Amino acid sequence: MRKTFKYRLYPTRQQTEALLVQRSEACRLYNAALQERIEAYRTHHKSINYYDPAAQLTEIRKAGDLGLPNGHCAQDVLRRLEKAFKAFFQRIQRGQKPGFPRFKSSRRYDSITFPSHGDGNKLLSSGHLFVQGVGNIKVKLHRPLHGKIKTVSVKRECEHWYVCFSVETSVQPLPETKAAVGIDLGLSSFATLSDDAEIENPRLYRQAQKKLRRAQRRVARRKKGSKRRRKAVVLLRKIHQHIFNQRNDHHHKLARKLVQQFGKIFVEDLNIQGLSRGMLSKAVHDASWASFIAKLAYKAEEAGRQLVKVDPRGTSQRCPCGARVPKKLSDREHVCTACGLIGKRDHVSAMEILRLGLSLQDVTKPDVRVCVS
Ligand SMILES: [Zn+2]
Repeated sequence: MRKTFKYRLYPTRQQTEALLVQRSEACRLYNAALQERIEAYRTHHKSINYYDPAAQLTEIRKAGDLGLPNGHCAQDVLRRLEKAFKAFFQRIQRGQKPGFPRFKSSRRYDSITFPSHGDGNKLLSSGHLFVQGVGNIKVKLHRPLHGKIKTVSVKRECEHWYVCFSVETSVQPLPETKAAVGIDLGLSSFATLSDDAEIENPRLYRQAQKKLRRAQRRVARRKKGSKRRRKAVVLLRKIHQHIFNQRNDHHHKLARKLVQQFGKIFVEDLNIQGLSRGMLSKAVHDASWASFIAKLAYKAEEAGRQLVKVDPRGTSQRCPCGARVPKKLSDREHVCTACGLIGKRDHVSAMEILRLGLSLQDVTKPDVRVCVS
């Protein structure tokens, strides 16, 4: 399976400048290739694929028109554009809003990728990363890297540089356990488990959001194009990054805990839910849930555990006994007249998700016990 390891880089001032040049050259190539595609379509109604510009690339590089010293790194830029177009055509086919691939400003083009380790880049035993045309950059290897390195990306996030190694590793299964859990992802708390454990959104996260609002107002007040606004934008970005890091940290720790504790994990399939409930305020939560489930999925795969997505329709409107218990969004209690089950709404939903998941698997029914308060 694939896994990513990310480490902080400490380039010197000269190295930073060399990295910035390579980044803006990659961006220039991306935009030029995009321009060419658009023109070819306009004049000849012909669509260009990846191979035409890739063949030209050798000549462009020979003529010294491109400041990207590594050929495969330059090819990766074209592959990135190809990907953007593929996604665009797929969106058209699915009848979604197409969103044509955009020209990128060099400030938004933040990473360069090497398709293989040892070609234009190398992680040295001295704790440095060699990058062709830049030199040996100091790396902080804060945790050991396992597996075979496949691709290497160098990227900048908020004034700091990082290297991401995409690595091929083998599955390391945890000792087997029969314990199963259903998870209801909620709005009031981050998640509720079928064993009635409630997982809060961390309070730190809410505090950071307060800071975020203030920083956004500061940017809005300042004049467009001014230096003061630019400075405010840098601060705003830092806060965004901080919130992102906090959320990521919370997700990783929670996913790790769940994978260690349970052999089978059932969650709602969010895609269907996102479409069925078109509530704007949930967009943020949806994104955060999706990234949490993605982390849970790869951690489960790595540990040899099972993660199953179940149909979310009606999980909050049904009782694990099978009876329908209609509730409005504001109803926080579940009271079943058929079997007499009384419980918290989210907890009962989580139990229903667990039941649904287990029934899909054709396993014996769980021993559902709820304290009747
Ligand atoms: Zn019931």
